[in-house]
Amino acid sequence: MEADASAEERAAVDAYLGPPQDGWTGGERDAETHRVGRSGHAAREQRHLLIEALHSLQAGVGWISPGGMNYVCRRLSVPPADAFGVASFYAMFATQERPKTVVHVCDDLACRVLGARELCAELETTIGPEGTPTSGGAATWQRSPCLGMCEQAPAIFAQRAGRPDVALGGATVFAVTAVSGTGSTITSAGADTAPQTWDAATRSGLRLLRRVGHADPASIDDYRANGGYEALHRALEIGPEATVTEVKNAKLMGRGGAAFPTGVKWEAVASQLAHPHYFICNADESEPGTFKDRLVMESDPFAVVESLTIAGITTGCAQGYIYIRGEYPLATDRLIHAIAEARRHGLLGADIMGRGVAFDIELRRGAGAYICGEETALFNSLEGKRGEPRNKPPFPVQRGLFGKPTGINNVETLINVLEVLRIGGDAYASIGSEGSTGPRLFCLSGHIGRPGVYEVDHGATLGEVIELAGGPTNGIKAVLLGGAAGGFVGPDRLDVRLTFEDARAGGYTLGSGVVMVLGEDTDLVDLILRIARFFRDESCGQCVPCRVGTVRQEEAILRMVAGRTIGSVNDELVLLDDIAKVMRDASICGLGQTAASAVQSAIETFGLFGSGGAA
Ligand code: SF4
Repeated sequence: MEADASAEERAAVDAYLGPPQDGWTGGERDAETHRVGRSGHAAREQRHLLIEALHSLQAGVGWISPGGMNYVCRRLSVPPADAFGVASFYAMFATQERPKTVVHVCDDLACRVLGARELCAELETTIGPEGTPTSGGAATWQRSPCLGMCEQAPAIFAQRAGRPDVALGGATVFAVTAVSGTGSTITSAGADTAPQTWDAATRSGLRLLRRVGHADPASIDDYRANGGYEALHRALEIGPEATVTEVKNAKLMGRGGAAFPTGVKWEAVASQLAHPHYFICNADESEPGTFKDRLVMESDPFAVVESLTIAGITTGCAQGYIYIRGEYPLATDRLIHAIAEARRHGLLGADIMGRGVAFDIELRRGAGAYICGEETALFNSLEGKRGEPRNKPPFPVQRGLFGKPTGINNVETLINVLEVLRIGGDAYASIGSEGSTGPRLFCLSGHIGRPGVYEVDHGATLGEVIELAGGPTNGIKAVLLGGAAGGFVGPDRLDVRLTFEDARAGGYTLGSGVVMVLGEDTDLVDLILRIARFFRDESCGQCVPCRVGTVRQEEAILRMVAGRTIGSVNDELVLLDDIAKVMRDASICGLGQTAASAVQSAIETFGLFGSGGAA
């Protein structure tokens, strides 16, 4: 409580908040200012800047120091205990001093089967166990959940105080020491993720990805030369009601996992009487195995900005937000640039395209919390709070961000709107199947010839998508479909059609579009243990079924692996089944409701632990 900020800590915070305006917000008090104070709502209205201010502090000095934290709290009128509760919620923030550089080494599913365990073992030999400072104490390393770079496994992400964060695929011990600054240097530009490319024949069929690897992601002129901003022009021409009608006619379903009709959501936001309205692009892509939104943001950032602008002006918003996961430094830079360019060209701001319509976008970063992909947790995070989901109802379209009507779609859903407006809702609805219209992005990773993001029309089979990505490299033992919250299917199910209705009927899920191919040698027990650990770590702890259930689930699997079961193996399997039912039925949000899905599907499908499954 007593710690004062150093000059370095103040500078780090001021780099984001700007210099303090008066003695009440961290500046010098003088005879003029100490007679005037703010209280109540006026004092708290800056609270939503808390997480970005903490990011700035951490980026400047390497941790959330007590002095720096006190200064942030004074600047934003947030009680220190409250702010500490926020800082300690997010994995990217350190409330204990640590080396200036921390390299997060992904040991999640795709990286795990492609060398991450061996990489971690090498790091333990060369540097020491995770958390050990390198000689000189400048850096350390630690294991990490999925970094969203599964097509470049194994991946690392380095937080570097005083230098840009950097993400890197195809990681080796050399790369870890290089980004730590303990070996030869590597620049963030040198670590850019390579853009995915397609040959001309494949590109001609692309709708969502047609500019990826083709148009310069930094050039608004190149974007416009390749069809950019035609959809916004059309939306302004036909007006909000007709735009909603087009999206409804397209039968566009949300691509985030819940498959809610986008047009219905937009109409509900637009019709709310309370104002202001907000629209959010959910770019907190954290589902293990998912990286499609990252690819779009890195390679076609103006498409995200344009489609969010259309969503905002159609639903009566003047302000939109992009909430991007904190581990995506390149996508963040490119979106910041795209937003600035759009403003400069009159495509954001008070008078979009000279039509007298106002809309602007602010980008905010997450800080390493999977749960913030859940929409109400995301609202709390944007408001500068712990990312804990809210009870529903009220639904976001009624009371979302700052208690106001809020629309929220993920990146893939939004960019589909550009195609809807380009070809018309009815034409869009003729693509795919009756219940699953339009194209769909899938993230192919694991033991596959050409890992990456692939676009197919809804209705393609699992086997066709796998062949599109070069086919399996080591046979197929299992395919993880839909992510850690999805499920495993066996090689006998490659004919399943990838549509919402087929998935519902067949008892599998498309989730966030994960197709992770696992070769014959894959240790499935090791993978379900990693999934169980992931959910135990990522549970926000707010409700008992999930907080306790995710721990008990991991413990039961560990006991079976160690051969130290309580009762028989069958007793443990019955217990796991019970835990799964309770989590599914009684958890507040989707995390707890799906935390057992993949584990259960692996046990049932493959007969793990002698459960009598198919394999
Ligand atoms: Fe938090 Fe889990 Fe409950 Fe969701 S289900 S609110 S993540 S404890």
